[in-house]
Order: sequence, then structure tokens, then C-alpha cells
Amino acid sequence: MIRNGWEDTVRIHEYQAKRLLKSYGIPVPRGAVAFSAAEAEAAARFLGGERWVIKAQIHAGGRGEAGGIAFANDLDEVKIAAERLLAKPLVTAETGPTGLRVKRLYVEEAVQPARELYLALYVDRSTGQVTFLGSRRGGVSITSGAVPRPEEIVKIGSDPDEPASGRAADELAARMTDDEAAVPQVGDVAKRLYRAFWELDASLIELNPLALLTNGRAVALDTRVILDDNALFRHPALEALRDDEDTPPEELEAARHEINYVAMAGTVGCVANGAGLGMATVDLLKLRGVEPANFMDIRPVATREQIATGFRMMLRNSSLTCILVNIFGGGIIRCDLVAEAMVLATREIPIRIPVVVRFAGTNAELGQKLLANSALPAEFARDLPDAVDRIERHYGKHPGGSTASRAVAAWV
Ligand code: GDP
Ligand code: MN
Repeated sequence: MIRNGWEDTVRIHEYQAKRLLKSYGIPVPRGAVAFSAAEAEAAARFLGGERWVIKAQIHAGGRGEAGGIAFANDLDEVKIAAERLLAKPLVTAETGPTGLRVKRLYVEEAVQPARELYLALYVDRSTGQVTFLGSRRGGVSITSGAVPRPEEIVKIGSDPDEPASGRAADELAARMTDDEAAVPQVGDVAKRLYRAFWELDASLIELNPLALLTNGRAVALDTRVILDDNALFRHPALEALRDDEDTPPEELEAARHEINYVAMAGTVGCVANGAGLGMATVDLLKLRGVEPANFMDIRPVATREQIATGFRMMLRNSSLTCILVNIFGGGIIRCDLVAEAMVLATREIPIRIPVVVRFAGTNAELGQKLLANSALPAEFARDLPDAVDRIERHYGKHPGGSTASRAVAAWV
């Protein structure tokens, strides 16, 4: 799963997801969270039993194969495993090469699965339906990319008029296992999952694996819950679970100022209002082989001061070679407001690299006039294609990479 700065999702940790799902009657192993090796040992002692699983809590999957899931047969082993997991960032197929720091562990009683299934609910965008997805082959086999054969995947859209979507859940269960004893168990889990999905305003809930034990009982060994943050205001208790530890600090700072900001590897600063226009701008540059340094979207509610803060943040990037400002003025974000914010920002951080400005819509001319009368080295594009042409020419002279900061230094 991709962590995405402007996709409105909230990810919560496995142990929090399990606690939530448990409140809907979905069976999960007993477990306790730990922030240190000593706490992990205490957690195992508290849980009792003789075999434990120690699981790194990060916002990424693929932990099992990357060594992020450890098994222990006594309390000493719990402590040693916990020390190892907390010692260094965990790199999995989903984290990127630098990995994610492990700050929390989840210690659970270990169970012995006879089979591992996959069960998920998500919103299918092509049908608009909340849809069940099931497979007989869950657990590591799915995450490691061993794609199940089509006959091993069950996909059933649910009927919003049918309470708990019982029929879809029962059909799913019957097709997910041949074990007669397990069918009602899986069906029951599916129905509870359905209720949880609606009540939590989730966009994805995944049980992988949903383990079948030798006695036919179904237990969710791993869960992934993604909530829709547009609905978070309806769930103040869930908002508190939000863990932004894995979000880059500049994205959080920007979000506090009504700006969506995502740093990228290139050298062309990009500013737009609206996520759609922002992405189109980035796409247009990439089509020309021009590498953006960031994605920045000014939200409609942003004030002049907040927009200025967004600009200052972007300008802190020393590898910028030029900047493209693409504003479609309308509603609250007018071109002159953005121009004022730019002037404000550059009063503190003077810009000496080319700034290509495409203003269209409300107060475009006024915005241009404000910039033309300022010290800002702005050039005005007739339209978006013209703006991209101009950026391409500047970029051609200073494509960036290792020379980028030198180019800026030369102009300064
Ligand atoms: P992921 O790799 O990030 O998806 O982490 P999971 O929580 O799914 O763990 C990976 C694998 O470890 C699972 O597919 C199971 O095979 C195994 N596993 C997890 N918890 C338990 C447990 O309590 N008992 C046993 N025997 N295996 C487990
Ligand atoms: Mn898993």
C-alpha cells in the first residue's frame, strides 16, 4: 500500500485496528502493545501462555518477510526479539529503501493456523459498491506477490439495502473454504466486518491472514484498516488514533497551514491550487522530462499568510532551479491573493531563480500587476502550455541533479 500525502486516508496501527475490530466481535488473538523491550517482556508475562509473536507496528505491510514478525518460546526470547526489532528501521517491500523506525511493538499469544485465508472489504470504484474480496490463499503467499489464480479469488459486491449484507457474506464464506465447520465462522466474520466497515467509515479493511485453526475457528492474525479522513469528524475517538510519526515533518507543517506539500526528487518548484490542477501540472512537466521538486496544492481555505508559509517552505529547498506557479483563480483563491502571498514570502527569502507564473481566472491581471511591481523575477505565461515551454527552457539550461545547487548559487 502506498502512503500518499494528498489521498485523504488515515492509517492506524495493527494493534489499534485489532482493538476496533474486536469491539465488533471479530476474533483476534490476545495482545498488548509495548514501547520498549522491558515492556514487551512484561506484556508477554501478562498475557501468559508459552509462545508469543512480537510484531513491529509500522504503517507498512510485508513485515513477515522482512523480519518484522518474531516468534518467541520464553520470556528471554521475547526480550531479545523486541530489542532487535526496536534497534533499527525496518525495510519491507512497502517502506522504500530507508525503511521505517519501529517505535511500538505488539506482543500477542501465538496461535497455530491450519490455513491462512484473505478477507477484505473495500470500495470498488468501478461499481461504486462496498465489495468483499476473499481468497483461499492468504497470509504471506499473497503479500509476497504470489498472485492467486483467478479461481482462488472471490469478489462479491454488497447490496446496501440488505442489512449486514448477509447473503454476500455467506456466499463468500462458502466459496472461501471447503471446511464445513469453518464456513459459518468465516461468514460470521464477514458480516461483522461489513458492519464495522460502514460504522467506521472505512475505505479498506483487510484481514490477512484470517487464520483457520484446527478446531475450525477463524481468527484475524493481521489486520489493516484505512479510514476515510473526510468522515473523521464523525469519529473523534478515531482521530486520536491517528499516528503521523511516519509522515514527513514538512507535510505535517504544510497541512497545518492548509497546504498539501509533498517533496519530490527533482528541481522545479511547483505550486497550484487544487490537487487536480497540481497533479496535472506535475504530469505535464514529467511528460517533458522535467523533474518537479515538489507537489504543492493550496487548499481553498488557505489565507494569504498560510500561502506565504507554503512558499517559504518550498524555497527552503536549495536544489530549486526554477518555479512554476499555476493558479486558476476562482472562489476564495484569487490570483491577487496568491501574488500578495508570494511577495510576502520573498520579502524574507529573496528569489533569484526564474519564476514562471500562469494566472487565469479571478483577478489574474491584478495578480500580474502586483508581481510586476515587486522585486520578484516573475515572467508571465499566456497559458499553461506556454508556461511549461518556459519551464522546459530554463530547465534545459539547469537540469539540476548535482549541478542544481551550484546553478542557484551562481544566480544568487
Ligand atoms: P505482514 O507480513 O506485515 O502482513 O504481517 P502479518 O501479521 O501478516 O504476519 C506475517 C505472517 O506471520 C502471517 O501471514 C502468519 O503466517 C504469521 N503469523 C502472524 N501471527 C501469527 C501467529 O500468531 N501465529 C503464527 N503461527 N503465525 C503468525
Ligand atoms: Mn499480513
